[in-house]
Amino acid sequence: MIKKNLEDIIKTLKDGVTLVAVSKTKPNELIQEAYDAGQREFGENKVQEMVAKHEALPKDIKWHMIGHLQTNKVKYIASFAHLIHSVDSLKLLKEINKQANKSNRVQGVLLQFHIAKEETKFGLSLEEAEDLLNSEVYKAMKNIEIRGVMGMATFTENETQIREEFDHLHSIFDQLHSKYFKNTPTFKEISMGMSSDYQIAMEVGSTMIRVGSSIFGQRNYL
Ligand SMILES: *Cc1c(COP(=O)(O)O)cnc(C)c1O
Repeated sequence: MIKKNLEDIIKTLKDGVTLVAVSKTKPNELIQEAYDAGQREFGENKVQEMVAKHEALPKDIKWHMIGHLQTNKVKYIASFAHLIHSVDSLKLLKEINKQANKSNRVQGVLLQFHIAKEETKFGLSLEEAEDLLNSEVYKAMKNIEIRGVMGMATFTENETQIREEFDHLHSIFDQLHSKYFKNTPTFKEISMGMSSDYQIAMEVGSTMIRVGSSIFGQRNYL
């Protein structure tokens, strides 16, 4: 079942797009099943859950933190997180830099942008991101590598709206790239697209899709 779901999605992946299998709320046995089918990148949105799964499951799994991250919890994942998608403040980035330094690592992160019409979603505005990137505090960080941007579209059936929101994220990526990361080849990721909208996201230039329920089935809770 999981193997088949993965194969069906992988068939539709455009060149250069990474599939992050979102395993939040799902038990280790199901993650192991996806692993045995060849999947290595998994996404979680809760720190404790990601730590427990990292401890229990094969060590070559690349763990992506895709959920809102509280500053006081960074220390639990800083030794192993592959990519943190949800950086939405300088304060959080400072703490990630500090904890990554303690682990002797350079932590890959994405800047999360608020592109949806919904108030509830987290993320920076372009202006806030530019303030962050222009700050001396950021410029002094040695243990952070900003690899791109992340965003979530509005939860709606309106495909035109979803496409516009993803387009907006792409244009934010382009603006940051030309202004701050022109000579930084590692700034290349646009993390957008979930089960309901990853096809649209890939058409609009996503490089990383985060798919949960289409692989593991519906979740009973968030
Ligand atoms: C849960 C979640 C996903 C995956 O959602 P599905 O609809 O199950 O594919 C993707 N991104 C984030 C940030 C999530 O929290």
